[in-house]
Amino acid sequence: MKRRLLDLSPIELERALAERGAPGYRARQVWSWVIDRRAERFESMTDLPRALREELNESFEIFSTEIVARSVDDDGTTKLLLACRDGETIETVLMAEEHRRTVCVSTQVGCGMGCVFCASGLKGVVRNLTRGEILEQIVRERNQLPEGERVSHLVVMGMGESLANLDELLAALEVVCAPAPLGLGLSQRRVTISTVGLPDKMRKLAELDRRYHLAVSLHAATESLRDRLVPISHKVGLGAVIEASDRYFERTGRQVTFEYVLLGGVNDRADDARALADLMSRRSAHVNLIPYNPVAGLEFERPSEDAVNRFTAILRGRSVSVTVRKTKGRVIDAACGQLRRGTAAVESTLL
Ligand code: SF4
Repeated sequence: MKRRLLDLSPIELERALAERGAPGYRARQVWSWVIDRRAERFESMTDLPRALREELNESFEIFSTEIVARSVDDDGTTKLLLACRDGETIETVLMAEEHRRTVCVSTQVGCGMGCVFCASGLKGVVRNLTRGEILEQIVRERNQLPEGERVSHLVVMGMGESLANLDELLAALEVVCAPAPLGLGLSQRRVTISTVGLPDKMRKLAELDRRYHLAVSLHAATESLRDRLVPISHKVGLGAVIEASDRYFERTGRQVTFEYVLLGGVNDRADDARALADLMSRRSAHVNLIPYNPVAGLEFERPSEDAVNRFTAILRGRSVSVTVRKTKGRVIDAACGQLRRGTAAVESTLL
């Protein structure tokens, strides 16, 4: 089977080509063709000797996924459904908003966290994606952009628990944040990693001397309610998640965002808002409220507008920094929780 090119680092590619007698600069040429110059076939790498292009073509594949569906919403949101070698599918989304070009990627097939309102976790986790499969989602979305446009932001909020696949994610981010032409040139500050809250992994990330933005999916401010909505919370505990968030802020200087999906009648009451305000008070943190988009087959409902306004007012009244996520590319409106929901729409436009 051909090797997935993007599973290698530029240094590893250099070694692989050295084994074939090619000088080191050839690896950099190949890499920059894919990462910077949008090549999707070795054949188009015209400054490489033909024999090397043929050899590369026999041993490697630039993309290991196939785009099986593509849809573009009225608001410019582009969704791709990618089929992996093993037949599993992953979704990726690109949102265009004024000067921003934001890609949302998945890190796993399925998810093992079991949040009760989420479609992605219904069947549990199937497998981790490789670094190449993560990177490929971004490169593929970037290649959809008109020539000259670049991806400006990355959110790791697609299917899966990002920190459960931390090593592969970090390897992909090294390329995303490396300068062009060997990287995509994104600032670490423009990368948001979403997590349900795995304290050990959050602390590891905090110690890495990176400046990624961390978004913690909280969804409840009391132990008992969170245990109900986010089952993994049983094992880790709300207090440990908050402590690890504080540590992340201390080490990186980056304010943590707490994502809170508002579920009608479940966690959107005045008492819930007050509990959240208590938790956030005296913390340098931001709360992002996400009115739920109902998922077929799940019992949860969208909160009323009054409930959203009341919840927001209580937080603001306690000086908590808060935003309500507006509808933009509805597919990712609920952080990692509802990406899978968009698949049906994507599949309806099968290529
Ligand atoms: S909300 Fe996120 S962490 Fe929870 S099950 Fe869904 S994909 Fe996993």
